[in-house]
Amino acid sequence: MTTMVTITIDGQEISVKAGITVLQAAREADIYIPTLCEHPALSPAGACRICVVEVLGQRNLQSSCTFPVTDGMKIETESKRVVGARKLVLDMIFSERNHFCPYCEMSGSCELQDMGYRYRVDHWVFPTYTKAYPLDASHKYYLMEHNRCILCGRCIRACNELVANHTLGLGQRGSKSVVSADGSNPLGESSCISCGTCVQVCPTGALFYKRSAFMGKDSLTEKIKSTCNRCSIGCGTEVITRGGNVLRIMGDWEAPVNRGLLCRMGRFDLLYDNRRRITAPLLRTEGKLEEISWEKAIQTLARQIGAVKGSEIGVLAGSYSSNEALYLIKKLFNQELKVSNIGLTNAPAPRVFAKAQGKLDNIAESDIILVVGCDPLKDQPVISFIIKRAVDKGARLIVVDDKENGLAPFAFMTVGMADIGKAVEVAGRANSPFVLYGADITKAAEEALKKLEDKIKYVRVESGVNTVAATALGLNNGYNPAALKLIYVLLGEQKCEDDDLSRTISKNAFVVVQASYSSPLTERADLVLPAAIWSEHNSTLTNIEGRVQKITKAVEPAGRSKADWEALKLLSIELGKNIAVSEDKASAEVIKSL
Ligand code: SF4
Ligand code: SF4
Ligand code: SF4
Repeated sequence: MTTMVTITIDGQEISVKAGITVLQAAREADIYIPTLCEHPALSPAGACRICVVEVLGQRNLQSSCTFPVTDGMKIETESKRVVGARKLVLDMIFSERNHFCPYCEMSGSCELQDMGYRYRVDHWVFPTYTKAYPLDASHKYYLMEHNRCILCGRCIRACNELVANHTLGLGQRGSKSVVSADGSNPLGESSCISCGTCVQVCPTGALFYKRSAFMGKDSLTEKIKSTCNRCSIGCGTEVITRGGNVLRIMGDWEAPVNRGLLCRMGRFDLLYDNRRRITAPLLRTEGKLEEISWEKAIQTLARQIGAVKGSEIGVLAGSYSSNEALYLIKKLFNQELKVSNIGLTNAPAPRVFAKAQGKLDNIAESDIILVVGCDPLKDQPVISFIIKRAVDKGARLIVVDDKENGLAPFAFMTVGMADIGKAVEVAGRANSPFVLYGADITKAAEEALKKLEDKIKYVRVESGVNTVAATALGLNNGYNPAALKLIYVLLGEQKCEDDDLSRTISKNAFVVVQASYSSPLTERADLVLPAAIWSEHNSTLTNIEGRVQKITKAVEPAGRSKADWEALKLLSIELGKNIAVSEDKASAEVIKSL
């Protein structure tokens, strides 16, 4: 049973759980206490002394972020003594390094500046600019401006506690202290994995993104909640836009799957994709791809489909296809046009266990983590953060893989597939083992893992982004390009750098490729339909836990691009089927078959 205590904050009596901090209690009662080194996702540090409060009976002011409540406690959050102490702290912070706000990227979005206004810090009390610190511009994606750093330690705690990467620490001592990477490396030459979490938690202009530097403070931008579509986790994002352009991507602290974290792919790669966009429908005319209208493109496609039998059509769905597009493929191609030759560009992982999957959150409660035939560090990095965090807290990791695996350096045991029996034996002795397995698992390893079924929680880790939905809808019955007369490839944003896929296609087949970027496959195509990218359309994806997650349009599509499902919807109308599709309809169809 939860023990409650009664406390009084600023004259307001409230009942809260025993043992929580004064800051947590104040927040529950909507009473504001200013903070700087504190961040809700991080452990409290009590370092900056901005959140001090007066607790009746205590001689000294107490840091509210670390001080626990007790029954009958009386607290003042803005007494004269408290305000004086905060002002002194601010005077010292502002004087210590260079906080000349007009020249700072974060001016207008800085927690220290906000605090300065709140407590009327309008001049320097102590000597300032006494020492110049270097600017570390060595990292590809962000800058470290030590002159703006207030040594709050948020970045260090984020790198250690959330990402478990342990790159950042405090270098040197006393007034010479600086945030440092791997002791003393420039960030760009350090063990940093470019997740950007440190930048996201920094309260000042000490850490900021290169790409969006000086392009707009928060009040000039729009923030749109969306989902990263770079892997099968589907991390929640906040897409920051200004004037129709995406400036940066932040992790959504409220998203249950990633709780604010993103990896390099989701935070940076999306914005640094310099492949050539396809912005208009293209039809091969006299050997060359020529721009045409959408109307003509869809009419041409419908005519080509009408000229062949269902058995002569093949469909290949790319990893990025939305729930809505996959739903339309099933309804239009499979059910209406009787196309059975449908496959996926990514091999799905097999179903090993009869029981339902667990959640990624269960990893934190496990004592043994078995990673079999998948490499989350490379392919689903936020899962690797969760695993490394669990390892930091004492869980033991076993990697079973025949390939080089990014998680191997963190494992206490690494074996090949043929030796999975040894891993199963160790996991069998654990209290709460957790298994993550992927498409590279062998048949023999599947059988070995089944022995753990009663004991484990597990998640099937798909290498394709929306493979969960594609397989739930039954869209993987063996695509075989031989002897096909018409092939529809829903490539979307997927990379297709070699021409392996095009080599499998017969010379005489009419090839339609719906794609965002130019590739060897679009060069082979007879008809190319321009596909909108992650920031340009509304749709849904289903992640490896079976969560349906929403991609929200943040900017207008490039040129005449359309969402994958919009093109299929137009085709269904042209073919006289007019298949109704909506996010709810498509998602319900996926969920019922999971
Ligand atoms: S980007 Fe990520 S890994 Fe690199 S220093 Fe920051 S938190 Fe650590
Ligand atoms: S870089 Fe930012 S988050 Fe890190 S200690 Fe300095 S001010 Fe705090
Ligand atoms: S882990 Fe996957 S979904 Fe999350 S940010 Fe990285 S690529 Fe995107």
